[in-house]
Amino acid sequence: MSSRPSGILALRDYLLGPTLDHAAHQSPFWHQRLAGKAALVDGVAGLPLLPVTTRAQLAAAGVDLYAGTTALSDQVVLSSGTTREGRQRLLVRRSREELQAQGEYVRMLGAGVGAPDRVLHLHNVQHGLPVGDPPPGEVRVPWMPHPNMVELAFHQLCATADAGNPFTVVRGSVSAVLTLAVAGRERGINTAALGVRCLGTNSYGVTPRVQALLEHAFGAVVLDNYSLSELPSFASRCAQCGALHWQHPPTAPELVHPTTLKAVELQPGATGMLVLTGLFPYVQRTPLIRYATGDTLAVTAWCEHRGDWGWQFLGRHKDTLVLRRGKATLPLYAEPLYHLMDGALGVARTRHPVEVLGLVKPGQLGFPKYRARDVKGALVLEVEPHNARQRARLKTFLERQLPRVFPALEKWPWRVVFCALPDRVFKP
Ligand SMILES: [Zn+2]
Repeated sequence: MSSRPSGILALRDYLLGPTLDHAAHQSPFWHQRLAGKAALVDGVAGLPLLPVTTRAQLAAAGVDLYAGTTALSDQVVLSSGTTREGRQRLLVRRSREELQAQGEYVRMLGAGVGAPDRVLHLHNVQHGLPVGDPPPGEVRVPWMPHPNMVELAFHQLCATADAGNPFTVVRGSVSAVLTLAVAGRERGINTAALGVRCLGTNSYGVTPRVQALLEHAFGAVVLDNYSLSELPSFASRCAQCGALHWQHPPTAPELVHPTTLKAVELQPGATGMLVLTGLFPYVQRTPLIRYATGDTLAVTAWCEHRGDWGWQFLGRHKDTLVLRRGKATLPLYAEPLYHLMDGALGVARTRHPVEVLGLVKPGQLGFPKYRARDVKGALVLEVEPHNARQRARLKTFLERQLPRVFPALEKWPWRVVFCALPDRVFKP
């Protein structure tokens, strides 16, 4: 760590005490779980003294958890991710006080830094629009993949650009922004001339191919975002170092070993399951202390510009394929493999729901059709080619690129198999 840590690190330490006090006093579950230990924790570095808590443990204890990023207390909207995977529906309860605190923090950050960006924020209707006033310069529009929504968004973007006061930032899910890029092209709208300088994307991750496509379409930088429905904070990609940094409102991120749940020291190359603690007053009604996210992340490097660690999302822990040969193991993280397959030309693709509405041509969107399997300790990468003619080129590409993404495959048995595969279930 050569540069000075950013103020957000000190703020995490400052807010942790009130967070633990609040949780222990407001929730019988946390009162019992933190009993006798919370007083020993002096700052974020002391968090490993407390137990890691999983979603299953919270559910078993009857703690309301899940979804409703912006909904008020009982008026909760279910998370799309949860219901589609068939897990038990649980709700995150948010109070008016914490929503107000989150909004005030955003407005406070925007104050006194010159003219704010003009932001068009496309909100997934499944999560609802946030309550309260938006930050200065931000217009919030509900979004779902429907032609009317596309019209509405383009009306906003074109009218403000024509008036010489364009939206300089568009925020929304990757799917929403990608839909605008493709729909704009089909309608003859020059999206690169709309005055947008930055696209802030969330929901599933941006692959290098999609990033290039969006940057070309809008002439804008793409800043990807990692977030969870359960907590208000998020990590977004740094324009300087390219890694993710945790943003405001502050949250305390840690890494633990995915099975032993032992703390992993934050240093370049450290990999583990992400554990988060939401901080008071931005999290109140459903406190989450050392909450196991189920996601695998790595620490990339200390960012001089930001004064904080850089992070990289490697995929859901349950989607990691761990190959085993004797005592040796090789984890194949889902996200880097997905990025590689998304950039491999000639792979068949799952149809995207947006295509069904006629907005997008087949092959422009949708997941590449592949599956990684462990066959007696060897990696078998099953791939469905778009057509037989591209097989040879695709095979050469994958044989070159796979060991580049996973260097351990230089010494580990693996092969690519071409076959027909079922459509992957679309996860927003
Ligand atoms: Zn950075």
